[in-house]
Amino acid sequence: MTDKFRLDGAVALVTGGRRGLGHAFARALASAGARVAISSRSSEECSVAVEAMRADGLEISSVTGDVTSYADVEAMVKDVERLYGPVDVLVNNAGIVEHLPSLDVSPESWRSVLSVNLDGLWYCCQVVGRSMTARNHGVIINIGSISGMIVNRPQWQPAYNASKAAVHQLTRSLAAEWAGHNVRVNALALGYVHTEMSPDPTDPEEIQRWVTDVPMQRMATPGEVAPAVVFLASEASSFMTGSVIVLDGGYTLW
Ligand code: NDP
Repeated sequence: MTDKFRLDGAVALVTGGRRGLGHAFARALASAGARVAISSRSSEECSVAVEAMRADGLEISSVTGDVTSYADVEAMVKDVERLYGPVDVLVNNAGIVEHLPSLDVSPESWRSVLSVNLDGLWYCCQVVGRSMTARNHGVIINIGSISGMIVNRPQWQPAYNASKAAVHQLTRSLAAEWAGHNVRVNALALGYVHTEMSPDPTDPEEIQRWVTDVPMQRMATPGEVAPAVVFLASEASSFMTGSVIVLDGGYTLW
């Protein structure tokens, strides 16, 4: 039974894997037996993360690129193929957030959030999806958010919310289109996880939004949500495609 969660020999690419959630996803996939490439815009910072994970005996490498550049995405995927072979598991994790009321969002700010969270994710899906559909094999996991389903209270981030809702719908769209090619596409709609993207949960001003409003009365750690990515990447979820799994400590229940 537990063998269904193993990923021995699988090749995984995790975008934005040098820190935060991406780092935890990479660690979890490698612990399940995958050979993992993490991507970052900074090769220096990425190699620090790689060394730390290799010290724990994990098979991890890094590739460099900005997901908002189609050319970078193509080059990154070629680098992974050179290192390990074709990508079996793609985790689209790279993302940014900007907290601004709608009337203060500049065209540049809107574009920057959409270009990382949606365009970049789409480029990765398309470039890797070409090879996956040709090989009739592959799994894509898109990191969405509860912000694609509800409006966080009270946290004004219209571009982020729109980008994550689009990620969920793109997930369903690709899942339907590529099901016949044995390529599964799912998303994780995460609630609040303590990373560099999130505020300090001990700050009294942030506690109400990030802790008290959550039925479980706390934020998650990256390590505790990472096994969900292993589930989606593995045979354990072999009949699942087009799903958006909510993992939020109950935030969306209220
Ligand atoms: P972090 O800010 O800690 O990490 C974001 C990662 O994205 C970084 O590793 C960064 O890589 C990468 N990144 C940003 N812009 C680009 C770009 N243009 N090209 C390539 N990589 C880029 O965020 P989290 O770990 O918190 O978030 C990860 C994902 O989880 C995001 O998609 C986020 O929306 C989602 N999420 C997070 C939640 C949370 O509470 N933390 C809740 C719900 C969803 P580098 O700087 O190395 O290039």
